[in-house]
Amino acid sequence: MHMAKGKEERKGVDELSAKVINLAGRRFLIVPNSEIYGGAAGFYDFVGYGARIKRNVENAWWGRFVSGRDDVVPMEGSIITNPKVWRASGHLESFNDPAIDCAKCKSRFRADHLIEEELSLSVDGVTMERLEKMMRENKIACPKCGGALNLIKTFNLMFKTSIGAGEGSDAEAYLRPETAQVIFANFKAGLGAGRAGPPFGIAQVGKAFRNEISPRNFVFRMREFTQMELEYFVNPAKLDDCPSLSEAHLKLEIPLLTPEMHEKGQPAKKTAVGDALSHKTIGTKWHAYWLAECVMFIQSLGVRPENLRARKHSASELSHYSSETWDVEYNYPWGFRELMGVANRTDFDLRQHSAHSGKELTAFDEERKLKYAPHVFEPSFGVERLVFTILLDAYSESVQKEGSTVILKLSPKVAPLHAGVFPLMKKDGLAQKAREVEKALKAAGLDVEYDDAGSIGKRYARMDEVGVPLCITIDYDTLSNDTVTVRDRDTAAQVRVKISELAQKIRAGSA
Ligand code: ATP
Repeated sequence: MHMAKGKEERKGVDELSAKVINLAGRRFLIVPNSEIYGGAAGFYDFVGYGARIKRNVENAWWGRFVSGRDDVVPMEGSIITNPKVWRASGHLESFNDPAIDCAKCKSRFRADHLIEEELSLSVDGVTMERLEKMMRENKIACPKCGGALNLIKTFNLMFKTSIGAGEGSDAEAYLRPETAQVIFANFKAGLGAGRAGPPFGIAQVGKAFRNEISPRNFVFRMREFTQMELEYFVNPAKLDDCPSLSEAHLKLEIPLLTPEMHEKGQPAKKTAVGDALSHKTIGTKWHAYWLAECVMFIQSLGVRPENLRARKHSASELSHYSSETWDVEYNYPWGFRELMGVANRTDFDLRQHSAHSGKELTAFDEERKLKYAPHVFEPSFGVERLVFTILLDAYSESVQKEGSTVILKLSPKVAPLHAGVFPLMKKDGLAQKAREVEKALKAAGLDVEYDDAGSIGKRYARMDEVGVPLCITIDYDTLSNDTVTVRDRDTAAQVRVKISELAQKIRAGSA
């Protein structure tokens, strides 16, 4: 257990989430699903600039983890599978959270979250028995009505559905709670589609569904969300044979928190990945590599390194399939929490699917002339959680005479547009010229948006608020010398650029 931020401290910083959630709603980036019918708790829709930011994050991940590599096979799996997949993976049996009901008002809560809120503690990895004891010792009552709470019970997070017109267990099926198992069930196809055997990965981006007891913190914990998952298969005899591990990975400094430090309430200690490997804090080279890759990826999207740390799971917290797991955590307004995870899933999943399906899921070791079940490293991201993190990290306000304005300092990699295109005035052919510039930039493959409504200042403010890095203004000089002004979101500095060089300069980030 570890002391988290006190309630008072969290209250102040929570204003940040409120502001980001307000912005997301006001500018229609992320809206509650089916809001006209009162919404559906835990379901959100990404619209307009929000949909663009989400897609950019997915594309950046795809670029780094799939198309930028020669050892990863992409896949697009079904959401519904043969239910035997979930029996084999252990999800039907043990994909549970601790639920607790109020005896009086019948409200249901997640017991561990309730304890965390009431006692300002983090109870990651604490057993059900211990949670029960903490509830009783601290006399925790229903936060809604003050009534007595029943005993904690396990609640399975799988979403049930049925297939076809059949009835009963024949038709029973589930929406996938993670994309990973669809990858494991396709191990043979992935192996066949790749050019060589392990080390290699199979990756996909797709929806996952979890019937969370209490979805909360906006899109941090939803019931339907998108995962970007890579299952990377390695010969267990070669877990330390990692040619991908470069000097840059080894030198990367990450604040690390071991279970021992966590238990003592110590802060994370900035450590070079190479040192963590030599001290065996990180168990294997492949694990170190994927952890470093993920942290580098998150930072490459503009998230500030000082808001990140990596925390190793304690033995009691480890999932049944894992021998070592590191969570990359972000310092959210409600404390450090998992942004994504990198697990060593061993050969658990392939062995389970082999045993349950009767099909051999192995690779062949050419040197030792034997078959083996590969071990799996799994870097797993939730897209919406990452988008929310990026928005929180990028949110800033600039105080001016007229009041404060919001600037979303998004990296150009994830910003919803490359630039806004504005005519100074609508008259005198400026609008027409601006439309021409817009068309040329779109033809060059850039995402730009034309806007002629309101003053230039208002148009800048609208773009700043949704994180567009550049604004291009077409003025009277443009008509005579084919140059435009390009204004930078963060510095408000303006430079004049030739229209003929505009696309190239925007792409190079040098406009
Ligand atoms: P948590 O402890 O926060 O419930 P988890 O350990 O169950 O997360 P994983 O099963 O490791 O999460 O899933 C991988 C990633 O998917 C998480 O790191 C997170 O980014 C994302 N994720 C998991 N559950 C949700 C959810 N309910 N809503 C949004 N994203 C989620």
